[in-house]
Amino acid sequence: DDALRQAVGLIREVPDFPEPGVLFRDISPLLADGAGLNAVVSALGRDIEFDVVAGVEARGFLVGAAVAQEFGTGVIGLRKPGKLPAVADRVDYTLEYGRATLELPADTLRAGQRVLIVDDVLATGGTLGAACRLVRQADAEVAAAAVVLELTALEGRDKIMGETVRALLRA
Ligand code: 5GP
Repeated sequence: DDALRQAVGLIREVPDFPEPGVLFRDISPLLADGAGLNAVVSALGRDIEFDVVAGVEARGFLVGAAVAQEFGTGVIGLRKPGKLPAVADRVDYTLEYGRATLELPADTLRAGQRVLIVDDVLATGGTLGAACRLVRQADAEVAAAAVVLELTALEGRDKIMGETVRALLRA
């Protein structure tokens, strides 16, 4: 719809960040716009049945918390290592360069819950793939993985095969 088109038009492209040759998509101007945030939040959760949102550090926290509030669920922050006082589980994964880890906070996700995983951008898919593994390892269910923007050339979707992926914009 129109509001959503306007919203994704607020995404800024930043060349050579965080390193030379990378075109970074910055969703900060979209989040700062009330109508933009609203359009994105409704579109991310629409017609998906879920019991809780899991937002990926750090921009997935902002979007994920807003989605949870809009749809009346709780929110869980999937965190980078060393931040949580009590960890239920962790998943290590490989990024384009190097390795990374995501941690699930203790006493949050319950077995059988349907989880909407939220992040800003799907790039290589390593991060969302790890988030899906954390959910499945907790005997919970991935309702869908939802992002504002999917960078299709990186074929990140292939890393999350078998799960529903929703992207509001593909570039
Ligand atoms: P992945 O390569 O695992 O799909 O993405 C790694 C993480 O970096 C994700 O949390 C994703 O949101 C973030 N990321 C990768 N590329 C971009 C980008 O161009 N813009 C933004 N905002 N985040 C990115």
